[in-house]
Amino acid sequence: MIADKLKKVKDSLAAGVELVAVSKYHPIESVQEAYDAGQRVFGESREQELRVKHEALPGDIRWHFIGHLQTNKVKYIAPYIAMIEAVDSLKLLQEINRQAEKNNRVIDVLLELHLAQESTKSGMLPEECFQMLQQGEWRSLKNVRIRGIMMMASNTDDTERIKQEFTRARDCFESMKQQFFADDDNFNVRSYGMSGDYLLAQECGSNHVRVGSMIFS
Ligand SMILES: *Cc1c(COP(=O)(O)O)cnc(C)c1O
Repeated sequence: MIADKLKKVKDSLAAGVELVAVSKYHPIESVQEAYDAGQRVFGESREQELRVKHEALPGDIRWHFIGHLQTNKVKYIAPYIAMIEAVDSLKLLQEINRQAEKNNRVIDVLLELHLAQESTKSGMLPEECFQMLQQGEWRSLKNVRIRGIMMMASNTDDTERIKQEFTRARDCFESMKQQFFADDDNFNVRSYGMSGDYLLAQECGSNHVRVGSMIFS
């Protein structure tokens, strides 16, 4: 069943679009089912839940942390996390760098942009994000690698609005690329699109979708 749903999602993705199977709130057995069907990249949004799953499930799973991460939790996931998707401050970036260094690792991260017209969504406003990049301290953080951007669109049925937000995300990515990462081929991830909107996201330039309920529910 999960294998069928996973296949359906995968078949609808264009070549080169990465699928993060968002397994938060779903039991270990369900993750194992998706794993057995070939999925290797999973997303979780709570450190404790992730810890339990990481310990119970195969070691070649690449775990992405997709939720809001408190700085005091970074140390727990730093030894094994493949990507931290929702970096929303320089302070968090510094702490990830510090913990990555302790573990002799370089951790991939995405900068989370707040583009939704909702006060509840997290992330940096584009101007804050550009300011942080302009300020330049991130360049000295050798144990984090900024791979791109992540965002969540407004929770609405208004497709036009979602499309505008996705397009804005792509535009932000492009200007960041041009201004700060022109020589960095690794800055290439545009993470947006969830179960309800990943096809639209894909049309609007996403190359990294985070799909949960369509696979696991
Ligand atoms: C839960 C979650 C998703 C997946 O949402 P679905 O609607 O279940 O596909 C994607 N991204 C983030 C940040 C999430 O918290």
